[in-house]
Amino acid sequence: MNMTRPSFFFVLSILLCACGFKQEQADLVVHNALIHAVDEGNSMHQAMAIRNGRIVELGPERQIMNKYSAGQVLDAAGRHVYPGFIDGHCHFLGYGLNKQKVDLSGTKSWEEVLERTVAFAKAHPEKTWIMGRGWDQNDWAAKEFPDRTELDLLFPDRPVLLQRVDGHAAIANATALHHAGVTSEMRIAGGQILGRFTTTDGDRSWTPPEDVAEIVHMGYPFWEPTGVLMDNAFSVFQTIFDEADEATKRAALLDAQRACFAVGLTMVCDAGLDTGSIALIQRMQREGELKMRVYAMVTDAPGNLAHFASRGPIQEERLVVRSVKVYADGALGSRGALLKAPYSDLPGHHGLQLATREHFAEVAKWCKANGFQMNTHCIGDSANKLLLDVYAEVLGGTNDLRWRIEHGQVVSPADRPRFASYSIIPSVQPTHATSDGPWAQDRLGPERIKHAYAYEELRQLMGMVALGTDFPVEGIDPLQTFRSAVLRQDAQGWPEGGYHPENALSPADALKGMTIWNALASFTEKDLGSLEPGKFADFVIVDQDLLRAAPEALRKARVRETYLHGEKVY
Ligand SMILES: [Zn+2]
Repeated sequence: MNMTRPSFFFVLSILLCACGFKQEQADLVVHNALIHAVDEGNSMHQAMAIRNGRIVELGPERQIMNKYSAGQVLDAAGRHVYPGFIDGHCHFLGYGLNKQKVDLSGTKSWEEVLERTVAFAKAHPEKTWIMGRGWDQNDWAAKEFPDRTELDLLFPDRPVLLQRVDGHAAIANATALHHAGVTSEMRIAGGQILGRFTTTDGDRSWTPPEDVAEIVHMGYPFWEPTGVLMDNAFSVFQTIFDEADEATKRAALLDAQRACFAVGLTMVCDAGLDTGSIALIQRMQREGELKMRVYAMVTDAPGNLAHFASRGPIQEERLVVRSVKVYADGALGSRGALLKAPYSDLPGHHGLQLATREHFAEVAKWCKANGFQMNTHCIGDSANKLLLDVYAEVLGGTNDLRWRIEHGQVVSPADRPRFASYSIIPSVQPTHATSDGPWAQDRLGPERIKHAYAYEELRQLMGMVALGTDFPVEGIDPLQTFRSAVLRQDAQGWPEGGYHPENALSPADALKGMTIWNALASFTEKDLGSLEPGKFADFVIVDQDLLRAAPEALRKARVRETYLHGEKVY
């Protein structure tokens, strides 16, 4: 009996050596997990080994545990592991900068906007400009654009500029208008300066049909701006936005990174950055301070394009720059989206086209010649048609250039086949459907609404769709994107049964939309978007099974841990 034990262990050790027991080195082994690879075969694994920031092997528990000796072993406690989430369209820097502004999201009245602005101004005596963002008149009882009268009384000396939730409209007080040189003679193509005029009957507000100059010519001498500026009109404040100094931008990027890691994002596609901001992101990544992967779309501006024409695209582990962000029209909420037929709730008004067709064609040719992807903001059916026309003309047929239509909110059925004919990727934001749902039909009427926020129909065109949030227009949480895509309900469970549920994505497609399809839409699918050997070890641990959870459980789902490049970041 005494002899059997040592001999048993002797035999065992021989066997283990023969199998190469723990002979391979890894930095991290994740085990006791339900790993959703989101690969071709939607395979599932129990464990994975990671070395130098990349996945070395995935497999059954014993296979991985026996083979690898790891510096760190992570017991996932039977929870679900998914590829790190990618936001396909957001404003990462803008979100961080917003944290330095008055948060006006969720305000229920203009009075509440004023209250928050006053409190913020008191708390920040050091700020010359009071900037805010997030109001939405559709959430107020009156549902009308505000007027600067009270702002002027509360802030007679300090300039105040408060952006609407969609970033396509803003209200400025008199001091801010004065700083920016806004006068009643001003004309701004693709923009509107809302005005009011005084008659003998007293004050009346009025929205000019095109631009200010027309009203002046109409002979109302007492015309003055209400303070509300739409789309291109508040470009007069661009220098003030751009003036954020490097320290502010650094703080903003780190704030944004912290918040994004906490919801499981490991890459963000920033839909519009200038060369200076891109250079800062690159510096902070090289310093090791900024770990977030960034797909930076270059804002369509002559200086930015000239910069990249001479330097070419950037393709680094954490930074990819090879796309241009263009704006075709405004937003539906502020009636800036360009529609073929007039707005159902504003007769004669079609919205705003933000640049000429010639301009869009010129940028498209530049993109094709310089190896850049073209990503254009198109909300209204007319804007979508216009850009699909321009893309088709320049692309000429199917291709692998992966040009994108951003938002694609109202796309006429007749215009849709061109997505497939010219290999154009729809890039959509499921939370827009559930946020805009309460008022979208007012703008579009009962017919057009059927072709709006039609994400499943758009997915079928190219067999894929890129999913994002457009944060800070919406919240940053990719799990809310998932719920809005699958349940077609907002965070409060509105509406019951889902908003136009025929356009819900399947859970498997919604997951792909947040991972591998976003990787494809950003030319990073060789490294990201799925958990496969050789790819970067970007993954999240979630406390629910996203593919099978009932709606109640799905609403409770939370990201518990986030890993980027094999490193725990949350
Ligand atoms: Zn955007």
